[in-house]
Amino acid sequence: MPVAETTATATGLCAFIDASPSPFHVCRTVAAELDAHGFTRLSESSPWPAGGAGRYYVVRAGSLVAWADGGADAPTGAGPAAPFRVVGAHTDSPNLRVKQHPDTAVAGWQMVGLEPYGGAWLNSWLDRDLGISGRLSVRDGNTVREQLIRIDEPILRVPQLAIHLSDDRRGVQLDPQRHVNAVWGIGGEPRSFLAFVAERSGIDPGAVLGWELMTHDLVPSRLIGRDLDLISAPRLDNQGTCYAGLHAFLAAVAAPGAATPVLAMFDHEEVGSQSDRGAQSGLLSTVLERIVLARGGGRAEYLAALADSVCASGDMAHATHPNYPDRHEPSHRIEVNGGPVLKVNQNLRYATDAAGAGAFALACAQANVPLQRYVHRADLPCGSTIGPMTAARTGMSTVDVGAAQLAMHSAREMMGAADVPAYAAALAAFLTASPGL
Ligand code: ZN
Repeated sequence: MPVAETTATATGLCAFIDASPSPFHVCRTVAAELDAHGFTRLSESSPWPAGGAGRYYVVRAGSLVAWADGGADAPTGAGPAAPFRVVGAHTDSPNLRVKQHPDTAVAGWQMVGLEPYGGAWLNSWLDRDLGISGRLSVRDGNTVREQLIRIDEPILRVPQLAIHLSDDRRGVQLDPQRHVNAVWGIGGEPRSFLAFVAERSGIDPGAVLGWELMTHDLVPSRLIGRDLDLISAPRLDNQGTCYAGLHAFLAAVAAPGAATPVLAMFDHEEVGSQSDRGAQSGLLSTVLERIVLARGGGRAEYLAALADSVCASGDMAHATHPNYPDRHEPSHRIEVNGGPVLKVNQNLRYATDAAGAGAFALACAQANVPLQRYVHRADLPCGSTIGPMTAARTGMSTVDVGAAQLAMHSAREMMGAADVPAYAAALAAFLTASPGL
């Protein structure tokens, strides 16, 4: 079977990440790419085009779902009940976010109060020059509009304690309440941080009614290592999958298989996915149902479509760490630049079962890329991802997959350059496979 070719590259991923400091910016980056490929953004609060055929996407704040449907006349023979092939990912990454009353002064320093979002490795955020991004809710007469903001200047820094002031010179235990506040000035009159952000963004500070603001490291992503075959970047978890999934999706749209390709990217995975737009929300299931309704089908056709649909839930995977090989299951070594990773957990921290594993292993074979199989040590608690909740929410057969990386949840992570095109190729083959397992 000819496999859809993707245009995913390591340098392309670096540019994607640098363009996307927040989940809202991930959606904007992806939307721009979709627009360039002839997609139309639909509003969830408006009727959708009848017939269903076309290239569309919806955005809910930091989440996005895109699809390219053939409509009821697509050559699957299933009519309105034509199944879906879904690639899932999450747009959020652990970081430090701005509190509601951020301004404080300590010992002459002007401080900005920050708190961790998700399981950020706090040590990795110290001594970095940090910019600010996110979104503001801005009053516009008697309505409120959303404004994305981004300031790529070294405004904030969370300074580390000098080693001479620590108890035993072996580092300090970081307290998320006391130790991750940022300095942004010394002496002088106190200034409102939020007013500063608004003014820098060309917005009247008095019109700002709400905000989700977060910090990002300003060092650009880049290729590193002896052979420049490694990627040093922030937010690889999980923009590595957002990028590979986007390119797989675009390849599948250009050379469609028998199922309708869908790209589903969720916010809030790092804090449990329970929100209006997380993987536990009805976002994906309502979009899929509305696609079937637009084709002219009903509830029965929607349920029939789900029965034959499969989701590859993409999130990053742990490569075996050279300094901590004992933290890994010894019979399941995972290599960077060793190909996509199938993630299996008997206690369903990952959704993978034999059927899903079969679907993804077949896709890797068709894409001619190697497949690695990850199992967490049985004596360590395993993380989870959007796979189990997507499976539970939709009833779709779901397989958890990823690409190998080190330093997950650090402010600066690392993965293999060759894994980017390999991961995208496997996901493209998955999206264009035959329906069913
Ligand atoms: Zn993740």
